[in-house]
Amino acid sequence: MKKVVILGAGFAGLHIFYKIRHLVGKKIDITVIDSRSHSLLKPSLPEVSFEGAPVSHSLIELKHTLEGRGAAFIQDEVLHVDAKNSLLKLKNGNEVHYDYIFITVGAVKDYDAVKGFREFGYSVCDDIQAQRLWKRVQKFEGGKIVTGAAKST
Ligand SMILES: Cc1cc2nc3c(=O)[nH]c(=O)nc-3n(C[C@H](O)[C@H](O)[C@H](O)COP(=O)(O)OP(=O)(O)OC[C@H]3O[C@@H](n4cnc5c(N)ncnc54)[C@H](O)[C@@H]3O)c2cc1C
Repeated sequence: MKKVVILGAGFAGLHIFYKIRHLVGKKIDITVIDSRSHSLLKPSLPEVSFEGAPVSHSLIELKHTLEGRGAAFIQDEVLHVDAKNSLLKLKNGNEVHYDYIFITVGAVKDYDAVKGFREFGYSVCDDIQAQRLWKRVQKFEGGKIVTGAAKST
């Protein structure tokens, strides 16, 4: 049986997973790899930041969700894609072979690109930052707020 590996279980990776399952059923072996145990639903993070919604409402647990649908899930970071040999090298030292691979690792936020952001800035773009912002919002007593979105490079 051919083996498909989906690297990254965000919106893109999970969408591909459900699409493949729908199109070819269980005729193909699917393994999903993500360094996180839970997929993050980023569009609901403003509710965490501004309404104090529990971050658990923005998370999809991956192991049971995927294994319950006939896929394998590996929680680990992929350090290297060896396309020549169709192999992935994981942080834990293991290697994973694939016949086909989808690389859906998203974008890494470079919070340090804006000087002073770590000290004074807040973001709704990930679960850690969203909860940090909610803590700050609760203490807000008035004053100027500057909002913006960084231009991608
Ligand atoms: C506040 C907010 C609101 C938004 N609202 C909307 C909206 O209304 N509509 C819309 O279309 N989009 C919206 N977006 C954008 C949308 O959420 C993103 O475009 C989407 O999440 C990107 O999905 P992705 O699968 O490409 O990447 P991600 O969701 O970032 O997933 C990538 C996954 O890959 C994993 N990964 C990365 N590197 C490795 C590695 N080396 N090894 C193992 N795993 C790895 C990560 O852990 C992660 O789980 C919003 C975003 C935010 C922040």
